[in-house]
Amino acid sequence: MANLTRLPKAIIESYEWQYDGACTSYSVEEFFLPENARGADKLAMETAAKRVCGTCPVVKQCLEHALSAQEPYGVWGGTSPTERQRILAGRDVQAA
Ligand code: SF4
Repeated sequence: MANLTRLPKAIIESYEWQYDGACTSYSVEEFFLPENARGADKLAMETAAKRVCGTCPVVKQCLEHALSAQEPYGVWGGTSPTERQRILAGRDVQAA
Protein backbone atom coordinates (compact mmCIF):
# COMPACT_ATOMS: atom_id res chain seq x y z
CA MET A 1 0.00 0.00 0.00
CA ALA A 2 1.25 3.47 -0.84
CA ASN A 3 2.63 5.62 1.96
CA LEU A 4 0.49 8.76 1.74
CA THR A 5 2.25 10.62 4.54
CA ARG A 6 4.84 11.98 2.10
CA LEU A 7 2.20 13.70 -0.04
CA PRO A 8 1.62 17.44 0.39
CA LYS A 9 -1.49 18.55 2.24
CA ALA A 10 -4.60 18.45 0.08
CA ILE A 11 -4.92 22.18 -0.37
CA ILE A 12 -5.33 23.67 -3.81
CA GLU A 13 -2.08 25.65 -3.56
CA SER A 14 -0.14 22.40 -3.27
CA TYR A 15 -1.36 21.13 -6.60
CA GLU A 16 -2.49 24.06 -8.75
CA TRP A 17 0.85 24.17 -10.56
CA GLN A 18 -0.29 21.01 -12.33
CA TYR A 19 -2.85 23.03 -14.30
CA ASP A 20 0.05 24.74 -16.08
CA GLY A 21 1.85 21.52 -16.99
CA ALA A 22 2.80 20.97 -20.61
CA CYS A 23 1.46 17.42 -20.28
CA THR A 24 -2.15 18.39 -19.67
CA SER A 25 -3.02 17.76 -23.33
CA TYR A 26 -1.30 14.34 -23.37
CA SER A 27 -2.62 11.01 -22.18
CA VAL A 28 -1.54 9.69 -18.79
CA GLU A 29 -0.16 6.58 -20.50
CA GLU A 30 2.50 8.71 -22.19
CA PHE A 31 3.97 9.57 -18.77
CA PHE A 32 3.21 6.39 -16.84
CA LEU A 33 4.77 3.59 -18.86
CA PRO A 34 3.38 0.07 -18.84
CA GLU A 35 5.06 -2.22 -16.28
CA ASN A 36 6.18 -4.52 -19.08
CA ALA A 37 7.96 -1.72 -20.98
CA ARG A 38 11.60 -2.64 -21.47
CA GLY A 39 14.67 -1.79 -23.48
CA ALA A 40 14.49 0.44 -26.53
CA ASP A 41 10.71 0.81 -26.36
CA LYS A 42 10.86 2.01 -22.73
CA LEU A 43 13.69 4.40 -23.53
CA ALA A 44 11.77 5.83 -26.50
CA MET A 45 8.65 6.35 -24.39
CA GLU A 46 10.57 8.00 -21.56
CA THR A 47 12.44 10.20 -24.00
CA ALA A 48 9.18 11.35 -25.58
CA ALA A 49 7.71 12.20 -22.18
CA LYS A 50 10.88 14.02 -21.11
CA ARG A 51 10.77 16.02 -24.33
CA VAL A 52 7.38 17.38 -23.25
CA CYS A 53 8.77 18.12 -19.79
CA GLY A 54 11.54 20.07 -21.46
CA THR A 55 8.95 22.60 -22.64
CA CYS A 56 7.07 22.74 -19.35
CA PRO A 57 6.84 25.99 -17.36
CA VAL A 58 6.36 24.11 -14.07
CA VAL A 59 9.11 21.53 -14.44
CA LYS A 60 10.85 22.60 -11.20
CA GLN A 61 7.65 22.38 -9.14
CA CYS A 62 6.86 19.01 -10.71
CA LEU A 63 10.27 17.56 -9.94
CA GLU A 64 10.21 18.85 -6.36
CA HIS A 65 6.76 17.35 -5.85
CA ALA A 66 7.90 14.00 -7.22
CA LEU A 67 10.98 14.02 -5.01
CA SER A 68 9.15 15.05 -1.84
CA ALA A 69 6.37 12.53 -2.45
CA GLN A 70 8.91 9.94 -3.58
CA GLU A 71 6.72 9.20 -6.60
CA PRO A 72 7.65 5.65 -7.59
CA TYR A 73 6.11 5.64 -11.05
CA GLY A 74 6.08 7.74 -14.17
CA VAL A 75 8.00 10.62 -15.67
CA TRP A 76 7.80 13.71 -13.45
CA GLY A 77 9.78 16.88 -13.86
CA GLY A 78 11.74 15.40 -16.73
CA THR A 79 12.98 12.45 -14.69
CA SER A 80 12.37 8.73 -14.64
CA PRO A 81 11.80 6.82 -11.39
CA THR A 82 15.39 5.57 -11.48
CA GLU A 83 16.74 9.09 -11.95
CA ARG A 84 14.67 10.34 -9.00
CA GLN A 85 16.00 7.52 -6.83
CA ARG A 86 19.52 8.64 -7.69
CA ILE A 87 18.71 12.26 -6.80
CA LEU A 88 17.12 11.19 -3.50
CA ALA A 89 20.08 8.98 -2.68
CA GLY A 90 22.13 12.17 -2.58
CA ARG A 91 19.67 13.93 -0.28
CA ASP A 92 18.73 13.42 3.34
CA VAL A 93 15.13 12.42 2.53
CA GLN A 94 14.20 12.22 6.23
CA ALA A 95 14.89 15.95 6.59
CA ALA A 96 12.77 16.87 3.56
S1 SF4 B 1 7.34 18.58 -15.86
FE1 SF4 B 1 6.57 17.01 -17.25
S2 SF4 B 1 5.26 15.67 -16.00
FE2 SF4 B 1 5.61 17.57 -14.85
S3 SF4 B 1 3.84 18.89 -15.29
FE3 SF4 B 1 5.47 19.39 -16.75
S4 SF4 B 1 5.12 18.13 -18.55
FE4 SF4 B 1 3.92 17.26 -16.88
